[in-house]
Amino acid sequence: MHGIGLFFVLLLITLILPFVSTASEENPEKISAYPWDHSPITVYIDNKSVPEHYSPTYYSQIEKALEYWEEGGNGNLEYTPVFELVDSEEADIRIRWTENLESVEGAPSGVAGYARPREVGGRFLKVDIVLEVGNYQGKAWRQYGDSTMFAIAKHELGHALGLGHSSDRGDIMYPEYELRDNIDPLLLTKYGPLLRAAIYTATAVIVFLSVSWLLSRKRRKKLEEEYLR
Ligand SMILES: [Zn+2]
Repeated sequence: MHGIGLFFVLLLITLILPFVSTASEENPEKISAYPWDHSPITVYIDNKSVPEHYSPTYYSQIEKALEYWEEGGNGNLEYTPVFELVDSEEADIRIRWTENLESVEGAPSGVAGYARPREVGGRFLKVDIVLEVGNYQGKAWRQYGDSTMFAIAKHELGHALGLGHSSDRGDIMYPEYELRDNIDPLLLTKYGPLLRAAIYTATAVIVFLSVSWLLSRKRRKKLEEEYLR
């Protein structure tokens, strides 16, 4: 009987281990290494239908963010993107602003921007980037300055180029604003480590329960043998 219990534990470990190692091997820093099958990547910046607190200086922050990635960005791209600004909503990447993501777009609190890719076979067809122009800090509205807009734009463009989140605090792809972006589950790589921790915990609990079940069986059998024989 002990053999069957042990077999059960080993079987469980065998079943769970590949899952755990797959989870830890997956690279959360990349969504796709080459998400665009053509170059240049066309970009449409919607500065026509803008929210109340839009600043005309935000437009050049996007241009600077595009240059940042064309010049190598954070060094984690395996290709050099070339962008072409176009005046058409048919562009590959479409960027627009909204007053506030939580109140207008129903995003989770703290989200400052998001990049939503439409994917086919691991390639991006289109990516929509939405950036908010400010947020509520307590009850006070605070409009983002140009440097914040520049940082958010670089970060969201990084997603549009196939990058996920970085665990390096100094990296532009570090989720600095906590939950401030990525409503799209595809991009929710920040939950990867959490999921992994949950899997390890579950494995530990299952192993612990199985082992203690085996030990109690052994103990009872010993008692039976001592007293009931
Ligand atoms: Zn992000």
